[in-house]
Amino acid sequence: PTSDSSSGGPAFPPELNTGQPTAARVYDVMLNGKDNFAIDRQVASASLAVMPELKEIAIHNREILHRVVRHLAGEAGITQFLDLGSGLPTARNTHEVAQEVNPDARVAYVDIDPIVLAHGRAILAENSNTTVVTADIRDPQAVLDHPEIQEFIDFGKPVCVMLCGILHHILDDEDPGGIVRTLRDAVPSGSYFFITNFTRLGDASSSVELEKQLLEQLGTGRVRTPAELAAFFDGLELLLPGIVPLPLWRPDRPVLDSTTVGVRFMTGGVALKR
Ligand code: SAM
Repeated sequence: PTSDSSSGGPAFPPELNTGQPTAARVYDVMLNGKDNFAIDRQVASASLAVMPELKEIAIHNREILHRVVRHLAGEAGITQFLDLGSGLPTARNTHEVAQEVNPDARVAYVDIDPIVLAHGRAILAENSNTTVVTADIRDPQAVLDHPEIQEFIDFGKPVCVMLCGILHHILDDEDPGGIVRTLRDAVPSGSYFFITNFTRLGDASSSVELEKQLLEQLGTGRVRTPAELAAFFDGLELLLPGIVPLPLWRPDRPVLDSTTVGVRFMTGGVALKR
């Protein structure tokens, strides 16, 4: 059952607008989740009509998140994760992956959509090393200064700042580069940035068409060029293999065909602040 038809789910906050699609809920449709409304499913169907690979792409995005968090919580020794635009809890969230490697790892989830907090409360109830905050990263200083974030994250110690699948929901005139710079300047050396974004495909018009459709129906969804994505990592040192199609970032299973739209439409990377 979906949220608008079922009973017994979390109490939805009154500010939840079920007549407007949201990125968190459309993404939930792509991941076959239950926390979406008819309007979100309409946007998802229209997007899938333009780019049928979007469900596969959402899975690649979740899988790179798991590989990155496992690496950073393990070998890299990162104990704090600031997961910005974390989305609805789904299978294998950041805290589950991080705490599997290091049970003391702390994860702050931040999302603009109040539905994320409504569902996140269930996780909070059972995990004291996790917090969920409703905030808008377009004001990154307000996120950093948020009392719960200040209490939860020690900005004297390295942090992994996660911007996974969120910067394409920030329009150019909302200054996504400035958001990353503010965050970069706020964390100490030894911190990491993990960024994934929709990326323009030079040889296929579906990426242009998808951007047009998302901007019209969702109001966000900027498909960026490889150069625009690379600029987000300015001043940081990219880990190998650099900015690559998601399944190619330190894969844990063979990628049989790396030429498909499903593999290439989202790219990303991980970088260290020296
Ligand atoms: N990070 C998760 C992942 O990669 O699986 C979820 C990505 S989901 C595609 C994008 C999320 O960013 C949504 O949950 C949406 O609500 C959130 N978001 C969009 N704009 C935001 C903003 N200005 N501030 C905070 N969160 C935002």
